[in-house]
Amino acid sequence: MKTNCECLEKNEEWHFEEQLECWYAIRECASCTYYWEGPDHSKTNRSSPPLTGIVYKPNDAADKVDSIRNRPGQFLVYCYDEHGRYGSPVGFNEVKDIFQFCELNKFSHKKIKVISDDQINVLVQYGSYVFPKEWTQYN
Ligand SMILES: [Zn+2]
Repeated sequence: MKTNCECLEKNEEWHFEEQLECWYAIRECASCTYYWEGPDHSKTNRSSPPLTGIVYKPNDAADKVDSIRNRPGQFLVYCYDEHGRYGSPVGFNEVKDIFQFCELNKFSHKKIKVISDDQINVLVQYGSYVFPKEWTQYN
């Protein structure tokens, strides 16, 4: 699944998605004919916008919404970009919710780590599950 490319003609737009509390990308490339849009969970700082493409400023005057990043969770999911930077985590308690989150985001983040009690429980790299072993069947 293609979520980005290096073509010069690529069209990329960003806005801050308040409910997910992270930057959200819309990408379209005529050269390699793909369209993709989705959240970038490695970019969670609203005052630190992405450095590529067109960036729409967050509306600071907007009503505060309940962000998924404010939910407590036993498991913390960290997403990394291609430079090894990561955003603030999303908390989950249910394994099925973690799996769903990983499925949604595994191709658009270089790495996803799920941590609880200082242990890495799930590791996804380049869209593939590294462990737990039971999840590698979904690769
Ligand atoms: Zn392209």
